[in-house]
Amino acid sequence: MDLNQLTIAEALEGLRGKKFSSVDIAKACLEQIRKHNEDINAFITVDEKGALEQAESADKQRANGEELPFLGIPIALKDIFLTKGLKTTAASKVLENYIPQYDATVVAKLKDAGAIIIGKINCDAWAHGSSGENSDFGPTKNPWSKEHVPGGSSSGSAAALAADMCLASTGTDTGGSIRLPASFNNLVGLKPTYGRVSRYGIIAMASSLDSIGHFTKTVEDSALLLSVTAGSDPHDATTPDKTVSNYSKIENGVKGLKIGVPKEYFASGLDSEIKEKTEAVIKKLEELGAEVVDISLPNTQYAIAAYYIIMSSEVSSNLARYDGIRFGNDRSFFGDEAKRRIMFGTFTLSAGYYDAYYKKAMQVRTLIKQDFEKAFEKVDAIISPVSPTAPWKLGEKVNDPLKMYLSDIFTVTANLAGIPSLAVPAGFSNGLPIGIQIMGTQFSEEKLFQVGYAFEQATEYYKHTPKL
Ligand code: GLN
Repeated sequence: MDLNQLTIAEALEGLRGKKFSSVDIAKACLEQIRKHNEDINAFITVDEKGALEQAESADKQRANGEELPFLGIPIALKDIFLTKGLKTTAASKVLENYIPQYDATVVAKLKDAGAIIIGKINCDAWAHGSSGENSDFGPTKNPWSKEHVPGGSSSGSAAALAADMCLASTGTDTGGSIRLPASFNNLVGLKPTYGRVSRYGIIAMASSLDSIGHFTKTVEDSALLLSVTAGSDPHDATTPDKTVSNYSKIENGVKGLKIGVPKEYFASGLDSEIKEKTEAVIKKLEELGAEVVDISLPNTQYAIAAYYIIMSSEVSSNLARYDGIRFGNDRSFFGDEAKRRIMFGTFTLSAGYYDAYYKKAMQVRTLIKQDFEKAFEKVDAIISPVSPTAPWKLGEKVNDPLKMYLSDIFTVTANLAGIPSLAVPAGFSNGLPIGIQIMGTQFSEEKLFQVGYAFEQATEYYKHTPKL
């Protein structure tokens, strides 16, 4: 096995046992990027020099007896995380040459933990999209099949990791942007509870929905990473002062846990194979000792409409700062999707329409949140598909925004309710990966890891890798 194919846990073990160095891992990742990035288009910026320097200094630190949780582990960042001195574009030509003055809190935490920042990753511009095709730097391809989309908006984060160009990657999830690409690439994707991870220094999409998370190959790696990134931050008032547990101490087994299956997530529009695969997951969890409970989340049918109104309203406000005076190029550089959302959101917030759209959508949001609260009185976690379909072909939905929006039907609810959700691999359809998500009540990430880990260990889908 090549060093760039290791999980974080395996790499840390090897590094600590002096089997190889951080420079060895960084070089293996850079070599893989050199070989395949031109085709996959996962990276916007590769910081080859910086990565090797960081790796050398990680090796020195280790030789001096210093130990840090991520010392020497190469991580790639969605190009929406501000990195001091390293270009950050949000995959938009508006910020084509923007060099930030400071690191996002998560970036600072990763660096403090010893991680190596290997580069900045492609995504849908401003994180608007579900396929990765809205990037101003060209679409990313799915390493499992280059004719298919990798899912979005954190398209490159998933593709780079699936293609072994890094050992983990970061992403943002405002309506599904971590979970969808994770499931399209046979990866574990965590959307933490709103406020669990600081948003400071992440280019804002919709501030009341944005969740900062990551992609890993295994549940254990996901838990390791959250232990580093989670926590309150004086720069983000929505991060509560709640203890950060040692997430990586994952509890064993699901015996006795109550797992809810919401009937609304299995209704029409769900591809029959995805339905079958999700039912197989439920059966597996039952075999492992969980109690499966049928539940109802009755307001699910309004989620997409509410999400697209609230999200666009906030987008129209957040993107107003890119006026060409303070940051980057002027507004004419915005792509079609950003323009569509700015116009839509400006309309839903305007006098005379606010009550009918924004206010109504916010009321629906409360109802959706209450649906979950009621459900979690009865169950420990909820299982559902991530996407109603398997990965689709590049170009298939680009001219039909509504069709594209509907692919978020099962993911936006967790953002509206502010709850955590963990996507884990659940098998394949015609050779393309499929995922399921495990949702829990706010700040129940430990439980999600517990369920995800039990399922992962029983199925071992993560052992399958794409042939590049
Ligand atoms: N696909 C959704 C959208 O386009 C979600 C995006 C996201 O989570 N960043 O709004």
